Amino acid sequence: MINFPNLDNYWMPFTANQLFKANPRMLVESSGMFYTSHDGRKVLDGVAGLWCCNIGHCHPKVVSAIQEQVAKLDYSTIFNMAHPKIFELAEKVADLTPDGMDRIFFGNSGSEAVETAMKVALGYHSLKGESKRTKFIGREKGYHGVNFGGTSVGGIPLNKNLFGSLLPGVDLISHTWDPEYMAFTRGMPSWGLHFAESLEEKLLLHDPSTVAAVIIEPVTGSGGVIVPPVGYLERIREICDKHSILLIFDEVITGFGRLGYSFAAERFQVKPDIITMAKGLTSGVIPMSAVAFRNDIYQEFMSAFPDSIELFHGYTYSGHPVACAAALAVLDVYKDEGLFKRALSLEALFEETLHSLKDVNDCILDIRNIGLMGAIQFNDNKGPANQISMKVFQECYEQGLLLRSSADYLVISPALIVQEDQILEIGEILKSIINHI
Ligand code: PLP
Repeated sequence: MINFPNLDNYWMPFTANQLFKANPRMLVESSGMFYTSHDGRKVLDGVAGLWCCNIGHCHPKVVSAIQEQVAKLDYSTIFNMAHPKIFELAEKVADLTPDGMDRIFFGNSGSEAVETAMKVALGYHSLKGESKRTKFIGREKGYHGVNFGGTSVGGIPLNKNLFGSLLPGVDLISHTWDPEYMAFTRGMPSWGLHFAESLEEKLLLHDPSTVAAVIIEPVTGSGGVIVPPVGYLERIREICDKHSILLIFDEVITGFGRLGYSFAAERFQVKPDIITMAKGLTSGVIPMSAVAFRNDIYQEFMSAFPDSIELFHGYTYSGHPVACAAALAVLDVYKDEGLFKRALSLEALFEETLHSLKDVNDCILDIRNIGLMGAIQFNDNKGPANQISMKVFQECYEQGLLLRSSADYLVISPALIVQEDQILEIGEILKSIINHI
């Protein structure tokens, strides 16, 4: 048991501060699949931190890579200077991205990756003489971080409501979830391809020649693990191509093995023009994000400014050497331990475990899954669904399982090192709790 410090000063993000501070939950150590709580309990991490610690916690290779790096070169600016590891990392990331998307820009968070992608999309069109392409299209229930660009193209109302008019020229296409036809679908729904036509409808309203980019998560993550219907992403790609609109896949969650592949683009065989990534890049150990661009997007900037700065954009900590060391070690671990394939091989058990909860209680509205990401969504049968979700989350935590409660659903997204019996344990704990709701 630790004595809590004064809790007054810290303003916690995305948290009911007053409720939390009345009943704090603190984590003090981590190792592999487990955290240790402030009251000395082992807690199974069922959400990989926050969909990020894909290789589990405190992997010795990553810990020593970071320790060595920080003692050798703790910081180097990346403006007009560099250090070798950033180039090495860019090459390794490019090895994982789809062919022809080999130009990599680094930031520190998913939110920054999204802003970078949006600004480069605008710059690219401008350099091509299409400066009237200034609009963006996102999707309902989409989450693209918390900065102004990402908030604007995001589709979760509570994330936008208090923050004024945000970016002009943004619209959202329809999300792809309809429980009447899709509830309890395992993996990709075969129904719902028509949702892609929402993009054509929006484009009719906006004049497609004024749209810079469409940004979507290939699988909606924070908005509730909404898996794209079969053929949907292909159709979105087709519509973007028809109107010369860039397609950005926000793969901050879906990248680095969460779906059993390097990226969702590979799993779904749909190639965007820009990919944003973060979380699994360093397995959450040190903040870092990246954006992969189609080579000709990069080339457009290079050709326009052959002997001066091509992109007036970047962060003090872009390509931070300690983050690079962490990312390089994490990418090695993915490869050496075959973790992407491992995630794929666990998918059937994960799916079966989640869906076995379907009839445990009639407060479950839907269960969705793909790769090692899943959600259980509640209805109001046994009280307000968001309170049920929070209650299940809290009881899970008391029983030694960390999940994430968000609105009316619970997220389950364990590290790719999760053992089969740990997946079963997640199912058992959930069953015993949901049973008595
Ligand atoms: N994009 C997606 C798809 C995300 O899931 C997230 C975070 O969960 C972000 C962007 C923002 O990332 P960050 O919290 O690192 O800024």
